[in-house]
Amino acid sequence: METAQDLIVCEHCDTVYRREVLTRGQVACCVKCGAVLERHQWIGLDGQFALILAALIVFVIANATPIVSLGLSGMSSATTLWGAVIAMWNDDSQVVSVLTVMTLFFFPLSQILIFGWVLWFARDGRRAPGFARAMVALHYVKPWSMIEVFMLGVLVAVVKASTYFDVIPGAGIWSFAVLTVLITIFASHDPRELWNVTRETPA
Ligand SMILES: [Zn+2]
Repeated sequence: METAQDLIVCEHCDTVYRREVLTRGQVACCVKCGAVLERHQWIGLDGQFALILAALIVFVIANATPIVSLGLSGMSSATTLWGAVIAMWNDDSQVVSVLTVMTLFFFPLSQILIFGWVLWFARDGRRAPGFARAMVALHYVKPWSMIEVFMLGVLVAVVKASTYFDVIPGAGIWSFAVLTVLITIFASHDPRELWNVTRETPA
């Protein structure tokens, strides 16, 4: 007997296929419209959970330690992300500071926490309480988590500032760099796979 988990539906043209087990590097595509049905998942659930834990730790360090210190004729001043946000707020750039907090703090943190929550249960093949809502939330949060955009901006700013100041990168900037890599690894992963590897637990 076939269950819904053995079938896969093309998101674009609604053609139904029988699910095949994919090997490393394989991608299943829709024959009718060419859309990607499924990719081989190269990190196991425990591996993903370990990555999320690492991301959470790095995230805390990134927010708590100075991003850069600027030095000018013997004086130096270091700032954390939050120091910069508060400075922008006081400098009448409230819109920018709110956007910064949302894209660099709120959305990445929710992404990490929601993913961690569903993965924690998925490791035993279970669906976390609120699984469906969490998966929908992940889908909407993902595009708003923009740490990689921030990294580019900081690099440009650092290069420009180094003409006038002695710029010393702080631990915060390295943490954000590591976080960019971790989040990119996650982005290459399809969270929809969690629907297939978990089962509803009887209440
Ligand atoms: Zn299709």
